[in-house]
Amino acid sequence: MLSTLPRLPIFQAVAGHDPEAVAVAHSPSGRSFTYGQLLADVSRARDWLREAGGGADLDGARIAFLVENSYDYVVTLLAAMAARSIAVPLSPAFPAPELQYILNHSEASLLVSSPKFTSRAEEVLAMELTLQPTHLELAKHVSGQERRHVTLEGTDPAGAGLMLYTSGTTNRPKGVLLPQSVLTAQCQSLMQAWKYTPSDHLLHVLPLHHIHGTVNALLTPLFAGSSVEFMFPFNAHAVWKRLAAPFLAGTTTNGTTTRSKVTFFTVVPTVYSRLLASHKSLPAELQEAARQAISPANLRINISGSAALPTPVKAAWQTLSRGNVLLERYGMTEVGMALSCGLDFADRVDASVGWPLPSVQARLVDVDTGEVIPPGQDVDAAGRERPGEIQLRGPTIFKEYWRNPDATAKEFIADPGGHGPWFKTGDVAVRRPVPSAGHNAGQPWARGPLYFIQGRLTADIIKTGGEKVSALEVERELLSLPEVAEVAVVAVPSGNWGHKVGAIIVLDTDVIQQWSPMDMRRALKSRLVNYKIPQVMRVVDHIPRNAMGKINKKQLARAIFADDFSGDEK
Ligand code: AMP
Repeated sequence: MLSTLPRLPIFQAVAGHDPEAVAVAHSPSGRSFTYGQLLADVSRARDWLREAGGGADLDGARIAFLVENSYDYVVTLLAAMAARSIAVPLSPAFPAPELQYILNHSEASLLVSSPKFTSRAEEVLAMELTLQPTHLELAKHVSGQERRHVTLEGTDPAGAGLMLYTSGTTNRPKGVLLPQSVLTAQCQSLMQAWKYTPSDHLLHVLPLHHIHGTVNALLTPLFAGSSVEFMFPFNAHAVWKRLAAPFLAGTTTNGTTTRSKVTFFTVVPTVYSRLLASHKSLPAELQEAARQAISPANLRINISGSAALPTPVKAAWQTLSRGNVLLERYGMTEVGMALSCGLDFADRVDASVGWPLPSVQARLVDVDTGEVIPPGQDVDAAGRERPGEIQLRGPTIFKEYWRNPDATAKEFIADPGGHGPWFKTGDVAVRRPVPSAGHNAGQPWARGPLYFIQGRLTADIIKTGGEKVSALEVERELLSLPEVAEVAVVAVPSGNWGHKVGAIIVLDTDVIQQWSPMDMRRALKSRLVNYKIPQVMRVVDHIPRNAMGKINKKQLARAIFADDFSGDEK
């Protein structure tokens, strides 16, 4: 049977890969699917979507879907784009009212569910919805037996794209619209920077309703012809077993792909922390095979991002892997990846997120004066680094917040130069030259001073007694103390100080059982100037984080420091 798909760059790339090469594998079952199958299955699923839509035009229509991390997810996502519609992945972990909100807000006309989530979908569809989507249940496996010959024709992408919802820590989640041209630009930028290849095998342990899991760990590998193996939800022991499998004599694993060695791993810092903690409890033989698996000779690239990477985690990973250095990068839903360290170990500078990625234009805007900080003038007359808001421009930046022109207008600022508006990230950084870095001839984008993230302007830049303190800098110092296992540094409102610097700490109970604010201050004395040392501190058992390891600091500060608010703050 003959079928066509639109000539979008992603389909052109997929059609160009070896049709026998593995595109997607599923770790627990050992099943795998080739690039040849993928194209055929996407065209078949696109036909189902069209039929379910009543044969109507799907251009730009929103297709929401609840599908587990699997080949079926990949097919559904690509089929929605092939129908020139906007794919809206939903997290099965969201409570029903959250799903209801997204369906209402996106005005989805279709809700696709896999058999596993049919009842979830039915539950939401029974709630009050402004527009009742048609429910399409996927067959048990979308991979068809019938071979189709797929050709590409028609270059008009129309409304094809992806919509991801922001975490919505302060307001209701916003729909971030990423047209396929933006996704393509993001993938091309990452391919150039991190050099994904057809021989890369990526182990995928992240949720798929965030940019990290979707663009960095799925769409870009598919663009490059790499293999993606799903293993979700993340389980440290299972991941170690899987990484170690190719290096253990006599192990039997399902299928051939799950015996492939993993060459590419991109996760959030908390995943590295949990892997480091659980490695000690593995049987000796497994411990050794796991170390071999993550050594630089085998794991080609290990990336960390979505939250700041603590230096002790980076150092411990380097020791455990016998020399592999974590590569840190910075990005957000609205912009994909924006800044990244380089491939040379010398270009993976501690505490830095590197340089603007290929095709990304970045600038820093002084948080006090609102002036653009000219390159080379990153230090003021008194020799102090000038923190600035990161602003970005270029083909990788999102188009708009869905049906929210006010929010969109607020976050973009026009540029008198006429080269398009800049997106205000709300994140603050300083730039600093590092003479030993930035010399890789193959990575010309990795040049000049490096960016160091100070945190979010609204939550991490704490104004205390007229000084500005970066919560991330204080967290970095606290985390390098042996007593501290986890920390969140937050702003505690105070009538006298504007804000006080507050620390919420989980102790490493192997090291210490009790720790007082006085102990903390003593330990930080030689590391931080006085005004940066937290004035208030609480020890807790647990710091709540979302699926990407992020902390809602405002909520946390309110919950933990309620008694410390002076009562005379405005
Ligand atoms: P999200 O849109 O949910 O991916 O969150 C993006 C936010 O995560 C950014 O605006 C930053 O505040 C934070 N972030 C991402 N990467 C890093 C990093 N490497 N270091 C510190 N913060 C980061």
